[in-house]
Amino acid sequence: MNVQLDAHQDDPIFAPDAFRLTDFQAGLIGKARRFGKAKLAPRAAKHDREATFPIENFRDMHAEGLLSICIPTEDGGTGADFQTYCLAAAELGRYDGATALSWNMHVCSTLWSGALSDDLEMTPEVRAGHLARRRMHYQRILNDGAIYAQPFSEGGAAAAGGVAFGTEARPVDGGFIVNGKKIFASLSGSADYYGVLCTERAEGAAASRRNTLYLGIPAKAEGVSVVGDWDPLGMRGTVSRTLLFKNVFVPEDAMLMPRGVYFQAATRWPHMFLTLSPTYMGLAQAAYDFTVAYLRGEAPGTPPVKRRMFPTKQIAVAEMRIMLEQTKALWFQAITEACPNPTKEQVLRAYAAQHTVMENANAIATKAIRTCGGQSMLKSLPLERIYRDSRCGALMLPWTAEICVDRIGREALYQPGEKDE
Ligand SMILES: Cc1cc2nc3c(=O)[nH]c(=O)nc-3n(C[C@H](O)[C@H](O)[C@H](O)COP(=O)(O)OP(=O)(O)OC[C@H]3O[C@@H](n4cnc5c(N)ncnc54)[C@H](O)[C@@H]3O)c2cc1C
Repeated sequence: MNVQLDAHQDDPIFAPDAFRLTDFQAGLIGKARRFGKAKLAPRAAKHDREATFPIENFRDMHAEGLLSICIPTEDGGTGADFQTYCLAAAELGRYDGATALSWNMHVCSTLWSGALSDDLEMTPEVRAGHLARRRMHYQRILNDGAIYAQPFSEGGAAAAGGVAFGTEARPVDGGFIVNGKKIFASLSGSADYYGVLCTERAEGAAASRRNTLYLGIPAKAEGVSVVGDWDPLGMRGTVSRTLLFKNVFVPEDAMLMPRGVYFQAATRWPHMFLTLSPTYMGLAQAAYDFTVAYLRGEAPGTPPVKRRMFPTKQIAVAEMRIMLEQTKALWFQAITEACPNPTKEQVLRAYAAQHTVMENANAIATKAIRTCGGQSMLKSLPLERIYRDSRCGALMLPWTAEICVDRIGREALYQPGEKDE
């Protein structure tokens, strides 16, 4: 049996008044919190243990309108912006990291093609084509509850942004022929569409990152297969197996962004890569909440033994709280200032926020286990899952913890184009 925390333990991570949220935002994060507690938390342990994808969570999200949270209102969605999405996603991450992370892959297919693309440059004709295509994608989500995955990792340097994607789309009459391989494809085998980042490359042309295409490939298309097993340390419910594309034909309208727009987004809207962090913000909060409840003798599923009177426990909780507040403050600032063409300071802050959330989520979970003690890491309680799930955050490309450090150091010391003799 897996247990949840008491009601008083899950006040909003970002209290609407304190963080000056709008009524719309407060309503949406409240909905995410109630949904996470009622639907995600009770199912999380089973999917974690069995490494199965929680498809019923996504069916329920469709009914709640959460699959369409970032679809623009003019297309029938909720119209959440970047910051609002991040705040709602953090609430889901508290209850089930794997579902929150998978949901992020789906939501990005609507956020990147929606609000984010609206900020980017396109000719009126190109934009008109994009609006028509994305409406078609959105209708699938709104009407049929279609689920989109977002496989971009390939096991080489492409996902870090260094070189062109090895998965290629050859332009042909009416569409593209796609060939390639994607690793760690969360939602593999359960998604209806794979939002694949690949390189458009005509016969004989050189591969270029500028020609990155973002294609919504139907899971049922001929030539698409899911291979390999999935038995990882954490985030087991994401079921991130390997995808193969062998001569897969997709029509032109599979484009989730027009030609050249993904490259423009990656260079002009870099906060787009911060969307993996909300899940881990939620996990950091969950580890802290668990510790407070446990030491008060109030964690469900545990005997009502109080351990809070020991000074060592109080110091540990204080240190966790300080780390949590530092994480929240920096992350909130970074998600609040996400915009096209951010300043250098804002980009460095975004890297710092990503690094801080990913590293601190695991540091807080580690301290939670040490502070609560042996009984707290039993699989009947959520803390050990939080600990394992939180370990995965620093590994997520393109902004792994190492890459964030690497970029902050370099970009702080060099202006663009500057070189040493
Ligand atoms: C639970 C989970 C779910 C995932 N879901 C998805 C998904 O849905 N879609 C998806 O596309 N991917 C997904 N990923 C993959 C993830 O984003 C990474 O691509 C993957 O973890 C990289 O593993 P790797 O061993 O190939 O890393 P490598 O590329 O071999 O990198 C190893 C380490 O080297 C460092 N490194 C790599 N490149 C550089 C560089 N240029 N500069 C400095 N340091 C560098 C990084 O710190 C990295 O952690 C998921 C991963 C996990 C763990």
